This record gives sequence, structure tokens and C-alpha cells, in this order.
Amino acid sequence: MPRQTSATAAENRILVLIGSGRARSRRELAENLGLSASTISQHVQSLIARGLVTEGGTTTSSGGRRPRELRLVGSTGFIGAIDLGGGHARLGIVRRGGGIAGTSEVPVDLATGAENVIAELSRELLALAGRLGLDGSLAGAGIALPGPVDLRHRTVESPSRMPGWSGRDVGALLGDALGVPSVIENDANAMALGEHFARSPRAQHSVTVKAGTAIGAGVLVDGQIHRGATGAAGDITHTRVTAAGDTPCSCGNRGCLETVSSGAALVRELRAKQYDVTRTADVLALVRDADPVATTLVRTAGRHLGEVLCAVVNFFNPNVIYLGGALSTLEPYVSAIRSQIYEGAHPLMTRDLAIERSTLGADANIVGVARLVEEALLREATSDPHRAAWS
Ligand SMILES: [Zn+2]
Repeated sequence: MPRQTSATAAENRILVLIGSGRARSRRELAENLGLSASTISQHVQSLIARGLVTEGGTTTSSGGRRPRELRLVGSTGFIGAIDLGGGHARLGIVRRGGGIAGTSEVPVDLATGAENVIAELSRELLALAGRLGLDGSLAGAGIALPGPVDLRHRTVESPSRMPGWSGRDVGALLGDALGVPSVIENDANAMALGEHFARSPRAQHSVTVKAGTAIGAGVLVDGQIHRGATGAAGDITHTRVTAAGDTPCSCGNRGCLETVSSGAALVRELRAKQYDVTRTADVLALVRDADPVATTLVRTAGRHLGEVLCAVVNFFNPNVIYLGGALSTLEPYVSAIRSQIYEGAHPLMTRDLAIERSTLGADANIVGVARLVEEALLREATSDPHRAAWS
């Protein structure tokens, strides 16, 4: 019954918009979804009748009659979100239907294994909630992981960077440690979702590139994460580029984009030129000090990434490319990517294409993870029979 399916889809999108705080009234829902006022009203009435949405007082909208504020029933409490990186983790407590209540950063040693790291991060998250005066009100939690994620088994596969993590159900470890349901996601996907929710909902097709020590990308199709057949969609870093020659890559192959465009590659190239650098942050500092050698290397690195993105743009025809990660804070890197794409991709693809830096910065993954948790809480509340709520 196509009509019923489409009504369900619209109502789910309405729940997500209200739950995320992006739409608080029927009018804002109509603007976001491009549906008529009467259609929106029908769906909202149905959701109110089913006890999923409630109507409160008036919102503080500007001008005219003030619309009544829509809220999700039972959407109280907070979400705990973790963005796990190679050497540190960012923790966030996010209000349901609202913004970030607080964040903190802690150093981590991934090599101590999944159990130890998750236990420590859970303690830190609860401590952060405590400092914010929000203990006991956690509704769900999630974590973004720096590697390909198997959602079915809730595992991360990144054996070279994360020894002792393979095959561990990270979602269960986190959920058990915090006593709430939990989700896991790849960090580039979480960043893509976070940027998407911070921006225009009309940009339904996006590619979010995370360019830091490593390079990753998340792909959103119709506003949803596209994972592909084996969950690795968007992993552009192991695309072979001519300029990389035979340079060995962490994946075991040679000549990958990662070996010429990543922060790790820039560190290696600068060290070969006798620079005293050990991490991506050192590269950033050199470029900010207008070091000519570092700036040229960074510009070349951006150009190679832009070449690969040309093929992505021609194939996928996105509305927007968001550039995140530490290297995307460098103007020479971003402008090299931009000019490469505008010169190299088909004019029909670039005519309306926006290429923008991440607006959320370090919080993009926190926002993305919180969105995934919120969606899982919504699925649980609406008991969508097509998908398990927490997977
Ligand atoms: Zn590779």
C-alpha cells in the first residue's frame, strides 16, 4: 500500500524534526518538508492521537499569530555522546530536542583494549553529567569510532590502530557500563550526519570529508547515511592516485590517497625535509606561521584530495561537500580542494554545488552521534517493525 508507506515515512520525518528541535510548529514542519499545511496538520493530528506528540504553549516565533509548540511525548533527559579518536576522546552531554549541554576531552590509549577504554570513557561521561547536574537522566548513549563499523555485530574493524578491539561488541560494552541503550557509528558517518543536521535540510545529498591525520568521508543520500554493501561507503582514502607512486600505505596497498593527502603523509614529507614534526598539529602550526615549504606541501595535498573528489562529485552529484577535520582549518588546503573540483568536475555537477567548511568543528561527531541515539529512541517509541531500534 504505497499511500500508507508514504504517510509513515512523512510521520517519521516529522518525529525526527520535532525531536531534534529543528521544527517546533506546524509551519516549521511544512517549511522543512515542503508539504502543504493541511497535509502536515493531518499527520500531526494522527501523531497526537497516537500519543507520540503533544502540543504545548506558544513558541516565540516572530510576527503574526504565534504557533503552538509541538513536543515529543516522553522526550526528556539527555544523551551521552563519545567521539573516540586516536589519542583522545571528546565527550558530550546533549539535551533531547536541543543543543549540547557540555563537553570535555580526555586522553585515551586505544591499545589498552575495548573493555578498559569504554569503561574509562563511561566513567568520564557520567562525571561530566554529574558536573552539569544531570546525573540519572541519561536516556541513551552512542560512540563514534575511528574505523569501519559493522553495525550488525556492533564491532569496529581497525586492527592496525585498535589492537584488542576486533570482534568486541562496543555497543554492548557502552550500554552495560552506562545502563542505557546505545549505538555505535563510524566517525566520518557521524560527522556527516552532524553537519547535515546543523545545515539546510534541503541539502539532502552530501559528502562530508574528514581530513586529519587520516582521511575519511561520510555519504548522505536523501538525508540518510549511505553505508554500501559492506559498510565501507565513503572510504576514499585508499583510492590510488598517480602522484603517490609506490608509497606504501597502512592498508597494505601502494599509492593510496592517504599517502599524499593526510596529516600523517604531511608529517612524513616534512620529516624527510628535516623538519622537527611528529603530529598533524605540528603541520598546522607551520602553515599558520606561513612556512613556505609546509604551505606548498599542504596545497599539493589538497589538490590530490580534490582530484579524487572530482570523480566522487561526477558520480554522485551532491548538493554540498562539507570539509571537516584538522586540515580543513587550513585555507591553502581548502582552496586547493575547491579549485580542483570546480576546474575538474562536470559543469552540470558544480553549477549548484556548495563546498563548505564544517561549522560544528570538533562537535560535529557529538551532534551526529546524538542524532543517531535520538532516532533509535524514536524507533523504540514508535516501535517501527521494519528495523530493530538499537542496532
Ligand atoms: Zn591504502
